[in-house]
Amino acid sequence: MALSGLDIFKLLPKTNCGDCGVPTCMAFAMKLAQKKAELSSCPHASAEAKAALGAASEPPVRLVKIGGANPLQVGEETVLFRHEKTFFHRTGIAIQLKTSEGEEKNLAKILEVENYKVERVGETLKADLFFVNDNGGNKDIFLRVVELVRQNSTKGIILDCPDEDTLKAGLGFLKNDRPAVFLRKPLTDPMIELAKTMGAAVIITGASYEELAGQSARARQAGLDNILLNFSVRNPGALLQHNTILRRSAVRKNFKPFGYPLFTFIEAENGLDLLAQASLLLCKYSSVIVLPVFDKALLYALFTLRQNIYTDPQKPIQVDPRIYPIGDPTSESPVFITTNFSLTYFIVSGEIENSGTSAHLVVCDTEGQSVLTAWAGGKFVPDKIAKFVKDIKLEEQVKTRKIVIPGFVAQISGELEEKLPGWQVIVGCQEAADIPAFVKSVNLV
Ligand code: SF4
Repeated sequence: MALSGLDIFKLLPKTNCGDCGVPTCMAFAMKLAQKKAELSSCPHASAEAKAALGAASEPPVRLVKIGGANPLQVGEETVLFRHEKTFFHRTGIAIQLKTSEGEEKNLAKILEVENYKVERVGETLKADLFFVNDNGGNKDIFLRVVELVRQNSTKGIILDCPDEDTLKAGLGFLKNDRPAVFLRKPLTDPMIELAKTMGAAVIITGASYEELAGQSARARQAGLDNILLNFSVRNPGALLQHNTILRRSAVRKNFKPFGYPLFTFIEAENGLDLLAQASLLLCKYSSVIVLPVFDKALLYALFTLRQNIYTDPQKPIQVDPRIYPIGDPTSESPVFITTNFSLTYFIVSGEIENSGTSAHLVVCDTEGQSVLTAWAGGKFVPDKIAKFVKDIKLEEQVKTRKIVIPGFVAQISGELEEKLPGWQVIVGCQEAADIPAFVKSVNLV
């Protein structure tokens, strides 16, 4: 179990010197306990404290990076369930390239993966890694595919190559790109040294808990800490069970040999099974999943699921509160008002766009809450809306004096009109999907 703030405090110097950036040792201990600070920030910690706290203040699942300039980061998780706190690093999605498919096909696939991006609630969602599988046994083609990825993408690369010389050449090629190596055989001392020299992460494979724990402990002892764990079973039920036991052992028991991100290669007979398995393992603890195919529909579904699971439940996703032009509005264009919950903003702005009308969308600061929640919490009420409208100087930016409020807060229309003298408050529709019909049925200018 992780140490509490009080346990950590007992090991600190208790001089409250403030050199760590917080005023007291107790405050620093609390930050350490929450994994929001590192012991190295206290220059006065004794050797004993470092020995005791160094390991204890490590997150139960180690952070591992794959990729060069903008690496995928996985691990550093501290809870089993998102609602207990949050998950910190989202599952990385890798797309498999097979050398047997040759240069041309692989290049086309690399470009397809590279160009496939989805914009959703203000985020750009995309695949994170390439998994290069040497299934042809030809060193030149393997290196050529690695080179093609490097030339056309900045994503991290996982190398899967049974021949050690070829693997060494591939790693040499990627020396400054923090690659990862997928091992099908047990970890060896030369492989540990090679990975350390090349700065590569290693994906260890085992068929049992004992095998995985043994290899992971061996790597750790030899100073190789950038590892991921992979169970070689393929049955989804068994994988779910194994992943849960590995993560539970790391988080609840602080069992160090399992304190690493988990890796899974997804295999299935058809697209639906592939999606089901990938979804299951994305939710249940795989930090990297490899998809054997590139399929936009499959990826879109996984991106959406991943975005929903890996957002902080305590921080609603929000957009900046301000006036957003939708289409090409003039000073005569209608004015809509809503909250700054991302999903609300993107749905409302999308539906105004669909209506073919150009408009000004006033997005109030409701700390990322949706319309009804913000109204119930006193954040989307006449006083605050009127103040916001005045603060952003809306009257100076538009000539119209009609403002459309969401239908769900029809009850505030009278009071809002009193707070905004000269404005006519129009009650809009309840559902954003009805905006196109609403715009046609009401005179808004
Ligand atoms: Fe305490 Fe160390 Fe911070 Fe000083 S630097 S306040 S001794 S924790």
